[in-house]
Amino acid sequence: MAAVTGPVLQGVGKTILVLSGKGGVGKSTATVQIAATLRGKGYRVGILDVDLCGPSIPRMVGVEGKDVLTTPEGNWVPVYADNEKRLSIISIAFFLDSKTDAVIWRGPKKNAMIKQLLTSVAWDVDYLIVDTPPGTSDEHISVMENIKSAPVMGAVLVTTPQMVAVDDVNRELTFCKRTGINVLGIIENMSGFVCPSCSECSNILATGGGEQLAAKAKVSFLGRVPIDPNLVRCTEEGKNFLDMFAGSPVSEVYHNIIYQL
Ligand code: ADP
Repeated sequence: MAAVTGPVLQGVGKTILVLSGKGGVGKSTATVQIAATLRGKGYRVGILDVDLCGPSIPRMVGVEGKDVLTTPEGNWVPVYADNEKRLSIISIAFFLDSKTDAVIWRGPKKNAMIKQLLTSVAWDVDYLIVDTPPGTSDEHISVMENIKSAPVMGAVLVTTPQMVAVDDVNRELTFCKRTGINVLGIIENMSGFVCPSCSECSNILATGGGEQLAAKAKVSFLGRVPIDPNLVRCTEEGKNFLDMFAGSPVSEVYHNIIYQL
């Protein structure tokens, strides 16, 4: 493990946090899509996957199991996920012996790892997208406390449309307000299912919770992302993720974020 610690997130232009109240709502998927959208605009983008509860970014972008090199100064070198070297990744998953390792660590070890991930990476990017641990975990607070001194430009909150998930996001909004982090907006993910045959949208889960919450909290509603079987395939196989939304209505949601930057 690299021994050097220093200022938080050196070599990063602007940082965007991706938050959710709980796991499984599509936070990592949104992280990849924001990164892919910014990369498509010609920026150099990094993803920092510090979700100790389930670090899934390397699998999603097809760099699972890659080795992380170290600079002569002892900092970690991010792994490139594309030939053009415009998307680089550091994930807690790169440093685990088994997939369950980080989940069973005790608090101090988790905190030390989080600090190291925030201070010991040799980034060279315009934007860094941070996939944070879900809001119900202790490590979430550890990330948020440690990242305050970095150039954080805002947070994107991801929720599913049901009110339970929305309540969790509400807590996140309060947290952002208290820590002075600007909220770029809310994404309502898995909002309806668009039938591949007839293109009709069925609202399998409730719908509209994210939009109502955004209105109540006076933050931007970035839009709805429907359940998309192709998306699951892309993220499971780690292939074609950079093109997965090119030209689809969903890309608008992500462009709504980019317009604000
Ligand atoms: P989180 O980071 O919040 O734990 P993930 O991004 O890992 O959630 O998503 C959880 C699962 O849901 C993954 O299998 C992912 O492919 C799937 N998923 C996320 N968003 C969508 C969507 N819009 N349509 C279909 N599946 C999705």
